[in-house]
Amino acid sequence: MPNYHIWTIGCQMNKAESERIASLFERKGYRHTPNAAQADFIVLNTCVVRQNAEDRAVNKLRNLKPLKKSRPDLKIAVTGCWVDSNTERLKTNFPYVDYLFKAGDCPPWEDRNEWSQALPEQPQVSTYVPIIQGCNNFCAYCIVPYRRGRERSRPLSEVVCEVKELVKRGTREVTLLGQNVDSYGHDLPDKPELADLLTELTKIDGLYRIRFLTNHPKDMSKRLIQTIARLDKVCKNITLPVQAGSNEILKAMRRGYTIEDYRRLIGEIRLEIPDVALSNDIIVGFPTETIAQFQQTVDLLTELRFDVVHIAAYSPRSGTIAARKLADDVPPDEKKRRLLIIEQLQEKITAEINAGLMGKTIEVLVEGKEKGKWYGRTGSDKLVFFSDNANHTGKLVHLKIESTGPWSLQGTVNR
Ligand code: SF4
Repeated sequence: MPNYHIWTIGCQMNKAESERIASLFERKGYRHTPNAAQADFIVLNTCVVRQNAEDRAVNKLRNLKPLKKSRPDLKIAVTGCWVDSNTERLKTNFPYVDYLFKAGDCPPWEDRNEWSQALPEQPQVSTYVPIIQGCNNFCAYCIVPYRRGRERSRPLSEVVCEVKELVKRGTREVTLLGQNVDSYGHDLPDKPELADLLTELTKIDGLYRIRFLTNHPKDMSKRLIQTIARLDKVCKNITLPVQAGSNEILKAMRRGYTIEDYRRLIGEIRLEIPDVALSNDIIVGFPTETIAQFQQTVDLLTELRFDVVHIAAYSPRSGTIAARKLADDVPPDEKKRRLLIIEQLQEKITAEINAGLMGKTIEVLVEGKEKGKWYGRTGSDKLVFFSDNANHTGKLVHLKIESTGPWSLQGTVNR
């Protein structure tokens, strides 16, 4: 029986696409191997959002060259954001690669129809479902629109059918994915919105929870906020990246909103959804960012208190507007210093927010067992561990929170 091996780095979108590629291999009778040297077909699903992700992908690819030389019948395919439109150039530099295809496209050796219906045979309790590919925004630092192209939404009925099928196979929670889920549907004939999709998905029996990633502060509508507030199955957990706390830096980043707009939006969300958990992304050391402008980011995070903040130090990506027009003028040590300041601040805020859950009973969807303990997530996306003899996979349990920390909580089953 032939073996396949898939190597994936990067965002959830890449992980979701790799799961789908894997399901088609399985259907053809291939078996998964974690060892590339034993594979008959290797797929690298790459990311170029940061330089080190790109370097890892290129190293991985170079390491496969001797393997291909010793076994010419081995098939090597590369996808993900590393594959740009100039595949001829990549083919010249890496002639031993059999297939190059852009992120989200149908693998060239597969049937297009089968690809559109590809689903994991045994999906996870919590599964990612891409709903929109690409991005129309062109934030100054971001390579995604160049590599994943312009926004393309999947028809609402196709997403609903897919989620129904996933639920039949055991999924209990879906996370709808898109670089900007607020744009969902604008390119479809009847222009459905994310709010319409959420409303349809909540009607599926056996689906317990719906999440979505990522929202854009300039595009999140009042209607969507009210829909999230109204629908029980929709998790009260929103990822709304602000990226920086200074209006000058937001302008240079081409984000399309001001700090005043952002603050107003957070106020509106908290008014409609009082128990909402908010996540954020921050870039420190963007070109021209002064210490005073960085301090504005610190002040904003201190004021608005997010549940989770993902922090990155700016690194120029060739081909982006920032890399073309702005000098990378914040020294690496200073970027590191700023990153640490925010990490420490956020660790404290998250620990304080989580400590507020101490002694409370919370509903958790159990995803599996690790090192003898069950683990799952609250609707607000907090990771909770607990011990119990019964099998809880895929079930909603009520846990009394016994201890808390910045990264996870511990609980006991409340019977
Ligand atoms: S919204 Fe901005 S940061 Fe997000 S994918 Fe689009 S261009 Fe990149």
